[in-house]
Amino acid sequence: MIDLRSDTVTRPTAGMRAAMAAAEVGDDVYGEDPAISAFEARVAALLGHEAGLFCATGSLANLLGVWLLVRPGQELLCESRAHVARAEMGAHAALHGVTTRTWRHRAGGVDLAAITELAAPDAGPYLVSTAAVAVENTHNFGGGSIIPKQDLAALAEFTRAAGIGLHLDGARLWHAQVATGVLAREFAELCDTVSVCFSKGLGAPVGSMLVSSAANIARARVQRKRLGGGWRQAGILAAAADYALTHHVDRLATDHVAARQLAATIAEVAPAAIDPETVQTNIVVLDTGSRPASEIVGAARDRGVALSAVGAHAVRVVTHLDVSADECAAAGEILAAIMREHAH
Ligand SMILES: *Cc1c(COP(=O)(O)O)cnc(C)c1O
Repeated sequence: MIDLRSDTVTRPTAGMRAAMAAAEVGDDVYGEDPAISAFEARVAALLGHEAGLFCATGSLANLLGVWLLVRPGQELLCESRAHVARAEMGAHAALHGVTTRTWRHRAGGVDLAAITELAAPDAGPYLVSTAAVAVENTHNFGGGSIIPKQDLAALAEFTRAAGIGLHLDGARLWHAQVATGVLAREFAELCDTVSVCFSKGLGAPVGSMLVSSAANIARARVQRKRLGGGWRQAGILAAAADYALTHHVDRLATDHVAARQLAATIAEVAPAAIDPETVQTNIVVLDTGSRPASEIVGAARDRGVALSAVGAHAVRVVTHLDVSADECAAAGEILAAIMREHAH
């Protein structure tokens, strides 16, 4: 099976496992895990923030980042297909009393006019007050699309002037860095709170980081424990993530090329399904037209390619560390054949 469902399906490499075995660890709830403390400092510095909090998942890092900015009963603005709104089991509402309103952007990007229209920072006694905006770079369900630095800068200028927070879900911020040459720090510095993942394209088995000010991270550390997310000798996991950050960022360019080529192969026979020019990183979202996404996923599985349905008529293909260029090319041919057959 060529597994292109997600870049989370990777397994730790031999070098990563060796780094995990060699990690010096301690009890992190006591602040005594040297591997975690060093890694939190490394990532915070890399992203231009004062402090970091190593978390089990990106969802937890997002949950804490938004919690720092939005009080119960206030609202968060985000794009309609944002991970925080769609793929975190309603945690921000269920656990933290956050309400959400959304704008719609073709690729999941920033629509400053729409955000300006939606934002109501001090709405008074009748309407819900907006406390923060969240953006996603790259955008998962938007097809791995990049928010350009100037768009994020314009949004940051707006949120600062409006006195509201700005959270960046940077699960795949590394991909934006590699694809644009703009450093992850240049995006992250514009935002109040930032989450990044090591368990996606970077190939670590577990691990995400929230970065922000030292005061914010101290508060988030307490809330993480309250939610049951404190952990002990997790330096073994920080070592894997640290290894991933050192060794697996530059190679993301390979995944981007493979994704673009796969999209081009499909577009040759099914141009309505995908415009290869819109594929900027490692995610390809195919429009299945009149066919249900589940039908395409099933047909691909029968021929040895695993995909995921991300909408009624949207199928996602994700390239990553554990699939070779040849496997991606083979998958492209198989998917092109399926899209051709299903077009009739
Ligand atoms: C995967 C992902 C996350 C975090 O997911 P977890 O499975 O909780 O680690 C957050 N945001 C985006 C955009 C993602 O793709």
